[in-house]
Amino acid sequence: MTEKKRIVVIGGGFSGLNLLKQIDKKKYDVLLIDRNNYHSFPPLFYQIASSGLDPGSISFPFRRELRKGKVKGARYNMGDVKSIDFSKKEITTQYDTIGYDILVIAAGTTNNFFGIEGLKEQVYTLKSTGEALRCRNEILYRLEEASITTDIEKRRKLLSFTVIGGGPTGVEIAGAIGEMKRYILHREYPDISTDDLKITIIEGTDRLLRTMSESASREAREYLGHLMVDVKLETTMKSYNNNVITLANGEEIYSEMVIWTAGITGEPFEFIGGTPEMARGNRFVVDEYNKVAGVDDVYALGDISFLCNDDYPTSGHPQLAQVAIQQAKNLAKNLNKGEFTSKFKYVDKGTMATVGRNRAVADLKHIHLYGRPAWVTWMFVHLISILGMRNKLNVLINWIWAYCTYSTSLRLLFHPTKYPKKGQS
Ligand SMILES: Cc1cc2nc3c(=O)[nH]c(=O)nc-3n(C[C@H](O)[C@H](O)[C@H](O)COP(=O)(O)OP(=O)(O)OC[C@H]3O[C@@H](n4cnc5c(N)ncnc54)[C@H](O)[C@@H]3O)c2cc1C
Repeated sequence: MTEKKRIVVIGGGFSGLNLLKQIDKKKYDVLLIDRNNYHSFPPLFYQIASSGLDPGSISFPFRRELRKGKVKGARYNMGDVKSIDFSKKEITTQYDTIGYDILVIAAGTTNNFFGIEGLKEQVYTLKSTGEALRCRNEILYRLEEASITTDIEKRRKLLSFTVIGGGPTGVEIAGAIGEMKRYILHREYPDISTDDLKITIIEGTDRLLRTMSESASREAREYLGHLMVDVKLETTMKSYNNNVITLANGEEIYSEMVIWTAGITGEPFEFIGGTPEMARGNRFVVDEYNKVAGVDDVYALGDISFLCNDDYPTSGHPQLAQVAIQQAKNLAKNLNKGEFTSKFKYVDKGTMATVGRNRAVADLKHIHLYGRPAWVTWMFVHLISILGMRNKLNVLINWIWAYCTYSTSLRLLFHPTKYPKKGQS
């Protein structure tokens, strides 16, 4: 009997989990390492942040997933991978060191603050469930405090929100806060006037949603206007200090809550015993089989990989869920065959973004959709992509409820409790 080769997968996001589904567990011993014990669904993080969904509806425990269906047979260990030793073929987490025969890095990306001093400590971000929850709590605290204060100037300061970055995440969170302003404020926070809440979105290029069609950008801008969001294009932020955003043109904007969606970079690792080739944005350079250049038996998938080919000759493939999923399937196919014959070819199924109820934009393969048709398509695509029937139903019920009532029931502030630390009386 020959021993099975061990594949260690770092990260159980879109690419990691899809690899686990497709890989032949009779042929390989597969171990997933993720810092969280659940798979999450980033496209809906903005709905957690705006109290539209609770985190449990878009998270799925790995251990439950690994018990059943196609994933059965793979194992999971919790761990935050800190370093990779390419010569010893080991990875190290805060808990242990684990050996591999084949390593698949599917760790995605984190926020990139482009070295702007003090930014990380002051802004709010949406790259994980924890970050989205932190954002939600801050918005809710501000609404409560603004309802109590009688000082109009203080109230307006408390409710000064700025979103940096006009990509899909920026547009979606700005739209969700805009919906709160338009539909919820007067009913649930009667002491606050709509004029007290200000939302600005700042984008460096000349249009929102710059990776989508020009008409999608135009529509998104119009939708945000309807939700009373102030859009500033061709504007870049230089610094943020003492609640003041300084723009590159010298203009200053007072904003107590800044939501940063303007940059991502590959999750960082310490490298030992080898030097993988890295591209801009801390991404692993891979070939058309997703093999990492410069080291042996290591593959990278999804957002953290950088693959240039004839279709994407300079900036690599877009950092989208579909790229991650399709790369994972292709790598599994090659590994299962035991020979690398299938090159990765991305099939673009389209992109979409939503800007509140009944308003979305969708660039599909042969058609551009706007307004309600795009919104219904957006809901359908997201619903079928969420893991687990219970989660799908949960999300659907929340959306129907919100649609019918113009509200959600999740504007709840749970205060964490401090317990005495071990060893202290
Ligand atoms: C707010 C937001 C909205 C988005 N909206 C869309 C959208 O509408 N459509 C779309 O196509 N794409 C969207 N994306 C992008 C999409 O989510 C990514 O392209 C996709 O998740 C990439 O998959 P991945 O497998 O590379 O990484 P991820 O899905 O990010 O998974 C990475 C996994 O690795 C784990 N991990 C990271 N570092 C470590 C470590 N050191 N040790 C252990 N585990 C680690 C993480 O916990 C996570 O589970 C959005 C992203 C964000 C953040």
